[in-house]
Amino acid sequence: MHERRSEIAVVGGGLVGLAAATALARHGVEVMHLAPTAPPDRRTSALMMPSVRWLQEAGLVADPAAIGHRLGRIRIIDMTNRLIRAPETLFDSAEAGLPAFGWNFPNMRLAEVFAAVSATIGLVTVATGATALSRTSNGWRIALADGGSVETALVVGADGKRSTVRGAGQFTTRDSRLGEAALVADLRLGRPLGETSVEFHYPRGPFTLVPAGEDRANLVWIDDPAVLARARDGGEEALLAALRERSCGLFGAISLASPSAIFPLSILSASPAGMEGLALVGEAAHAFPPIGAQGLNLGLRDVADLVDAVLARDRAEAGWAEAASRAYAERRATDLVRTSTMVEGLYRSLVAGMLPAQALRAGGLWALKSLPFLRRQAFSLGMGGSGKA
Ligand SMILES: Cc1cc2nc3c(=O)[nH]c(=O)nc-3n(C[C@H](O)[C@H](O)[C@H](O)COP(=O)(O)OP(=O)(O)OC[C@H]3O[C@@H](n4cnc5c(N)ncnc54)[C@H](O)[C@@H]3O)c2cc1C
Repeated sequence: MHERRSEIAVVGGGLVGLAAATALARHGVEVMHLAPTAPPDRRTSALMMPSVRWLQEAGLVADPAAIGHRLGRIRIIDMTNRLIRAPETLFDSAEAGLPAFGWNFPNMRLAEVFAAVSATIGLVTVATGATALSRTSNGWRIALADGGSVETALVVGADGKRSTVRGAGQFTTRDSRLGEAALVADLRLGRPLGETSVEFHYPRGPFTLVPAGEDRANLVWIDDPAVLARARDGGEEALLAALRERSCGLFGAISLASPSAIFPLSILSASPAGMEGLALVGEAAHAFPPIGAQGLNLGLRDVADLVDAVLARDRAEAGWAEAASRAYAERRATDLVRTSTMVEGLYRSLVAGMLPAQALRAGGLWALKSLPFLRRQAFSLGMGGSGKA
């Protein structure tokens, strides 16, 4: 069977794996990318300005306007009918002194442009998955689904929530399935969104419309899985009626521009993010409900730190991969804890039926609405910063 060898093996062909393999290879690192063919990813990703800037600096996206849509404003409407309700709030990127909060990209377009860059630098991609990992004197041996294997010093686990790479290390993993799911679909609206993303907050989660250019919007509807399945399975008219009702008839005639898909939601975190020549990136290391658009943003920050941790080592030295994986974990520790605490807190305050959580959320939104200083801190946190205005 075919034995392969590489300095680094990146396992997983999702957006984070593709970004990691391409960014490392662009710096002259020898990378083998293990990317079995996966179903097309029909989701879209709102990426905040720091992520977009990193993609440009890493040479992965040349011009965001060529593949994405600008996000200039975020409007939040409380539909919870709770005792303590939040005010309607509009956040404008101009207030943060920014041309936009970020850009909304179709995941398939991002994958295309990343793959186009990887082709120009001759990244070695093998369309097969990892089935098991075992220790060798120099690093790791990865057994492949095609019967072959790869010997490598550093394994980058970008193989998603059910990561095989994570299973090979002594990571502490917290993984809990949530009681909600997300329905996504592309829509056409009679009254377009312009550059404003609109979030209706309902008791079981937000119903969000993200601008996708002209009259298009990407829907992310978080709710009870049974409610979503009923809306999807009742035929197109029933789904459109549910969408009109949930969006309070604010957008005129709504039609579907793609099939809808439902994603189960979970919260997952692995700690530390790297050890013993293994580095976990993207959803192999962390997964949250799609609230506040954090998942892929965080995954790209993993990749940025991974590239820095690898480039800081002399790869001719014995033990460089172990040292790089430890340094990677140290770099990621604060951001991973801060972001997961923020998203989980936001999520629990949205779906919690408890009065203190409702009061906290409503009070928080009132404070954000009325205090510009707090608003700037929230912008910084939401965009992956430390929260210092
Ligand atoms: C509805 C929804 C909306 C979202 N919206 C946003 C948003 O607006 N902004 C944002 O920042 N984030 C968003 N996210 C989160 C974002 O989509 C994810 O964080 C991101 O796609 C994760 O990418 P990944 O490459 O880590 O994982 P995945 O996309 O899951 O890729 C993992 C890959 O690994 C492969 N694989 C699995 N096992 C193996 C193996 N053994 N060997 C080799 N390969 C393997 C799989 O085939 C897959 O291709 C959203 C998520 C959802 C569910």
